[in-house]
Amino acid sequence: MFDFIVVGSGAGGATIAKELANAGRKVLIIEGGRIVPTERAAETYRVASSGVEIWHATCLGGTTLVSMGNAVRGAYENLEKYYLETEKEIGVHPVPESHMGKGTRLLLSFSKDWKVMPKAIDFSKCRSCGKCPLGCPYGAKWDANVYVQKAKASGARVLTETPIKKVLIARGKAVGVETFNGKTFKAHNVVLSAGAIETPRIIMRSGIEGVGSGLYVDTFITVGGIMEDIGLSGELNMSLFIKRDGYLLSPHYSSFLVPYLASKGFKVRPIDILGIMVKIADEPTGSVEEGRVIKGLSKKDHDLLQRGIKEAEEILIRAGVDADSIVSTHPRGAHPGGTCCFLVKDFEPLLESLYVADASVLPGPLGIPPILTIVALSKKMANILIGRA
Ligand SMILES: Cc1cc2nc3c(=O)[nH]c(=O)nc-3n(C[C@H](O)[C@H](O)[C@H](O)COP(=O)(O)OP(=O)(O)OC[C@H]3O[C@@H](n4cnc5c(N)ncnc54)[C@H](O)[C@@H]3O)c2cc1C
Repeated sequence: MFDFIVVGSGAGGATIAKELANAGRKVLIIEGGRIVPTERAAETYRVASSGVEIWHATCLGGTTLVSMGNAVRGAYENLEKYYLETEKEIGVHPVPESHMGKGTRLLLSFSKDWKVMPKAIDFSKCRSCGKCPLGCPYGAKWDANVYVQKAKASGARVLTETPIKKVLIARGKAVGVETFNGKTFKAHNVVLSAGAIETPRIIMRSGIEGVGSGLYVDTFITVGGIMEDIGLSGELNMSLFIKRDGYLLSPHYSSFLVPYLASKGFKVRPIDILGIMVKIADEPTGSVEEGRVIKGLSKKDHDLLQRGIKEAEEILIRAGVDADSIVSTHPRGAHPGGTCCFLVKDFEPLLESLYVADASVLPGPLGIPPILTIVALSKKMANILIGRA
């Protein structure tokens, strides 16, 4: 009999599994996705097409495999100690100048407000290829598989390609989980870490109400235009950021800019595009249901995006981008969270022996890259579960 079943192996799941296994607990990680070579992680993208397209990955290690490596603290004072521990473990460093490409360096000189992005990247291995969101080909970027391997080294068992349907509950206590094929696994405790889209669905299928609303995604668009041979498409992206009240700007190439430019009559190569991402702390007005996700733009979201787009356009034009060529992509989101925060509070169990450790418990709006916070939070949760916090 396992002490803990952890469902999902992303930022939250891998962390809590590693910490619990390291403390001598018998842990079984059950991951719905498959094992994928890191550089092929993009094959496992799943897109929830609501008003705002929501992207996440479903493989061992979860969405961390396709992250940009950005590692920024949130304003959670109760996590201070865990932030510090996480930063040391996953190796957070500001992007060195040696890894800033031509496009980034050009943008740097056109606003005094840029700050250097901290990233969980080993820059001795990073070749600044710009492939972070496809999965790092050089093993330079931290991802949750590092923690899965550490959990295994401490005795944890790992099952992949085993999506969980629901939690088994007996006399008000979680006693295990059941797959979509009807196979069951028993444990003294269950931790749900399937991410903010799937964790509330598992809870709903288990007959528990009160989850699914409060969804935010840190909605973003990329504004871009033509600058011949600038090469941002082939360099480390998001190496800089400007933080404003409610939105963030960061150098970013999106392949979606190519068709948008083509529709305006511009036939360009990816290396001819200079772009800036505008990412907002969107209102948590979305929701997750069994068959669909609902997430649009509120009036406030729309206004924030417009303010960000205006500032991004001004910087691009100052940097020399052809003003007539500037286009914006459709709104997307890559930080889904908040969908269990109304039911799960302050590291309390959802019911006896049932816990949640992933982005779904972080209330929104968020507006920062969440991995560092999810890992820190999961470390704290593990310490509570083993009686050390
Ligand atoms: C392109 C992109 C870039 C990003 N860049 C950054 C960045 O630079 N910095 C940052 O902080 N954040 C970034 N993020 C966001 C970050 O990756 C996520 O916020 C984070 O991974 C969420 O952690 P999680 O544990 O909640 O979920 P996930 O990491 O998504 O893990 C959930 C896991 O559960 C599994 N699962 C789902 N359903 C089931 C089921 N029924 N049974 C079993 N397993 C299941 C999934 O396969 C997955 O492995 C990025 C996201 C994207 C898409």
